[in-house]
Amino acid sequence: MQRLLEGYSRFRNEVFPHHSSLFQQLAQGQKPEIALITCSDSRVMPEMIFQCEPGQIFPIRNAGNLVPPPTESQSGVAASVEYAVRALQVADIVVVGHSGCGAMKEILERAHVKDLPLVHSWLHHAGPSAKWLSALFQDAGISDEKKLSLLTQANVMTQLGHLAQHASVAEGILKGTLRLHGWVYDIATGEILALDNESGSFGPLALDLHQNELKIA
Ligand SMILES: [Zn+2]
Repeated sequence: MQRLLEGYSRFRNEVFPHHSSLFQQLAQGQKPEIALITCSDSRVMPEMIFQCEPGQIFPIRNAGNLVPPPTESQSGVAASVEYAVRALQVADIVVVGHSGCGAMKEILERAHVKDLPLVHSWLHHAGPSAKWLSALFQDAGISDEKKLSLLTQANVMTQLGHLAQHASVAEGILKGTLRLHGWVYDIATGEILALDNESGSFGPLALDLHQNELKIA
């Protein structure tokens, strides 16, 4: 906690004065262009990865970067998505998974079913593909690391499918005002792999926006 208090002191005394006009402007309202759905993992820091200032990213974070389908509106994610699309009119939503995800690991290993009942209940939003993949992996003869990586990618695809079912998102896609993207961030290398909708596989993130656009039917 002391770390936090010292950080706050530095922010107030050293950082804030240099950016006071930005904060004055932000106090009037926010207009982020991007909503990022990421894991709560402390190692994933979107503002650092994408070099953004306050007000540029609308973050929606939870264990496993999950987006429950619209039928489960109590999760809070649905409300945040609706707000991002209809009130803030973001142009892009990115679902960002990451390497070494504890939530994905728990789906594979089920090591804490008894200790973490709420986590397990939440993780069912990873969808049937997660269970299917986990079962398939049992005798597949591939490394634990590879299993985790494949499940993390599959989960991003599943969550994009859920996202597209939300009324506000479907509307935005239909009107051509909203684009969806699926990425996986590697903590050890800092690299991002992006889902290529054509091939259904993940490859290095292209720096041209249009190459990363997913066509969700
Ligand atoms: Zn995670």
